[in-house]
Formats: sequence, C-alpha cells, structure tokens
Amino acid sequence: MSYGMLIDLTLCIGCKGCQIACKQWNDLPAEKTTFNADWSNPPELTARTWKRVGHHLVQKGDKLVWRFVPQACMHCNEAACEAACFVHAFYKTPEGPVLYKENLCVGCRYCMVACPFGIPKFEWDETFPLVRKCRMCYERIADGQQPACASACPTGATLFGRRDELLAEARNRINTNPGKYVPHIYGEKEAGGTSVLYLSDVPFHELGFKTVEKGEIPAEPIPSFSDRIVRWTLPVAATWTAVLGGLYWYTKRRSEVEESFKRQNSPQDNGEGS
Ligand code: SF4
Ligand code: SF4
Repeated sequence: MSYGMLIDLTLCIGCKGCQIACKQWNDLPAEKTTFNADWSNPPELTARTWKRVGHHLVQKGDKLVWRFVPQACMHCNEAACEAACFVHAFYKTPEGPVLYKENLCVGCRYCMVACPFGIPKFEWDETFPLVRKCRMCYERIADGQQPACASACPTGATLFGRRDELLAEARNRINTNPGKYVPHIYGEKEAGGTSVLYLSDVPFHELGFKTVEKGEIPAEPIPSFSDRIVRWTLPVAATWTAVLGGLYWYTKRRSEVEESFKRQNSPQDNGEGS
C-alpha cells in the first residue's frame, strides 16, 4: 500500500509546526541561519533541515496575499535519485517513502544532481559526510502512525493517507469548491508522479514550483536522465579502477625491483662482508 501526503496550501498558515516537528522527531540539531528576503527561515533545505516552510507574497485578484509552502522530499514514484545511485543507496519502498542506506553511499552526490526538486543535501562539514533528506518518517508509518509533520499540523493543511485516496480527496476539493483552487494537483503527474501532492489557489509557478507548462520539469519519470548519468558513471568508475590498478601494479613492481637491486648489491651478497 503506497502512502503519501496532500498539502493544501490554502490551509497552511506558515506556523512552521511541521518544520519543528520534523526537527524534533529526527533529532536534527538547530543550526545558525538567516532570514531570507521573504522572511522564511532557513532560506533553503540543508542536511539538518529536512523540511522548511517557504514564504511567498503573490498577487491574487487585486490583492497581495501571503502563501506558505512546506517543502521537503516529494518521494517520487520513480525516483531520479534512486536511478542515479549506482550503489543503490536510494530506494523506493512499497509504502511510498524513498529511503537511503547510508552504509552503501560512496559520496559521489549523483543523487543531488539527478533530483529535479533539489532535495538531497550533503553534510559538507562532517568528516564522513552523508546525504540527508526527509524520510517521510518511515518508522512511524510502519508503526501505524502518520509522519511527524502531518501529526503536528494544527490546520489539517498536511494530510497523510493512501496516495490514491489523497488524489480522490484533492479532486473532490477542486470539484466541490469551484473557483477556489487552480485546477491542478501538483505531483499527480510531475516527474512521473510523486507521493507528496499539493493543492493551491494561486498558480504553482508563482510559488516557486517547477512546472511542466514552463518546461522546467517533465511529466515523465526522470530516470531516463539519470540513466545517462549512470552510463557515464560506470565507464568513469571502470577507468579509475584501471588507472588505480595500474598505479598499484607499477608501485609494487618498482618496490620489488628496488629490493632485488639492493639485495644484489649488498656487501653480504657480494661476499664483501665481515
Ligand atoms: S524529490 Fe528528489 S530526493 Fe526526493 S525522491 Fe524525488 S528525486 Fe529522490
Ligand atoms: S504545520 Fe501545517 S499550517 Fe503550520 S506550516 Fe506546516 S503545513 Fe502549514
């Protein structure tokens, strides 16, 4: 059964309860940060902030209105991060979350290049850095609970459930509230579909979303792009293996020759000792 989240931006009041709940549940430390020009804080996702709420001042009719956008991993149905990762550290679970096996990661960061939403972040300041992102609270879901962000939301803006039921709910909200929403469920088709879905009353591109209409993101899954990365990755890895193997053989052989030369020219071997 595949789960997801429906984030109704008309209900979000920007309280950041979801952002804080994510920090608490995942035991993520606070970090020194700055206010963005739009007063959101932090200005972008980091390795220690897996969920953030963006602020957007947009024109709606003849009024300027604030809209708030909780942002985290979209948990793509066919994840580009997974396709790009040649050691298979990223994987899509049947339950919906896209997870990461840190013990397999070699730190190549192809996942970061491949992700169309710019989600995975690297622990640049760690001695043994890893890639970090939202895990949709997989353990909570397995335990029959909802993700921490959905649980904390005081307005019901973040709804957790089965993806097919969330899609039906989103369609129902659009159909039963004519004129309230833009007639589009973000994440239904983007990048081949995602487990996280959004509803909005202003066009998504005005809220910083990459859209199919503007050619910023395909409606098809991204893995075809990632495949190209992997096709490059394997020859590069093979070349490096060959180069390093050659260097190893050369260094080893040189040591052997030097040892042999020393032995042949040592006073003992020449009968010049004692
Ligand atoms: S949003 Fe990015 S990191 Fe998340 S599943 Fe999709 S490709 Fe992977
Ligand atoms: S907790 Fe709910 S209302 Fe508050 S910022 Fe997050 S989604 Fe919006």
